[in-house]
Amino acid sequence: MQLKEMLQELCDAAASFYARGYAFGSTGNLSIRCGDEVWISPTGASLRALTPDELACIDANGARLNAKSPSKEYPFHLAAYRAAGARASAIVHLHSTHAVALSCLDSLDPAEPLPVFTPYYLMRVAPLAVIDYFPPGSAELAAAIGQAAAAHDCLLLRNHGLVCLGRTMAVAVDRAEELEETARLYFLLRGEKVRLLSPAERDHIAHAYPRR
Ligand code: ZN
Repeated sequence: MQLKEMLQELCDAAASFYARGYAFGSTGNLSIRCGDEVWISPTGASLRALTPDELACIDANGARLNAKSPSKEYPFHLAAYRAAGARASAIVHLHSTHAVALSCLDSLDPAEPLPVFTPYYLMRVAPLAVIDYFPPGSAELAAAIGQAAAAHDCLLLRNHGLVCLGRTMAVAVDRAEELEETARLYFLLRGEKVRLLSPAERDHIAHAYPRR
C-alpha cells in the first residue's frame, strides 16, 4: 500500500471510531509507520473529520518532519514501534468508555484482566497487558508501554484507555474494537452465571488461528 493510501486509511478509521462513539471530543490518536517516518493525528484535534494533510509527520526520535504538531501522546507511539519492530506499522489509541471503565476497576487482575468469553478475544486481543497509571504524554508512560509492546499487541492503560498495535491499520482497528466490545460484555455479564471457553476450547483456537 502506498503512503497516500495508508494516510487516508488512518483518517477513515479515525472518522469511523468517532462516528460510532469509540472516540469523542478530541480524545484518541492513531498513527502509522512507513519506513523511517511516523504519521500521527495532530494534537488537540477531533478524530471526526481528519484529512491526510492535517497529519503530523515525525521521525523515530520525535523530530518534526512537517509543520503539524503531533498528538501529545506521540512518545508512547514511538516507544511501541521501537519495541514491536516489524510486528507494528499501525497503532490505535482510544479512551473508549468500556475499556476505560475496566481500566479503573480496583479489582482488575493484571494477569487476566478479562475473561475469555469468545474465541474472537483470543484471536485478536489476548494476552492483554495492563500498564500502571502514569500521566498522559509522560516519559514514564512511554517507557512502560515500550516494555509491554515487546511482547503484546493489546495494552490496557490504567485509568486511561487502550492501545492496540497491528501490522496494518485494519488489524490494529480490529483489535481495538474487539477489546472495547469485550470490556462491554464484561460489564453486561457482571453478576450473571457465565459459561467461559474451557481450556481445551482455548487450546483449539490457539492452534487453529495463529496470531496475525
Ligand atoms: Zn490517551
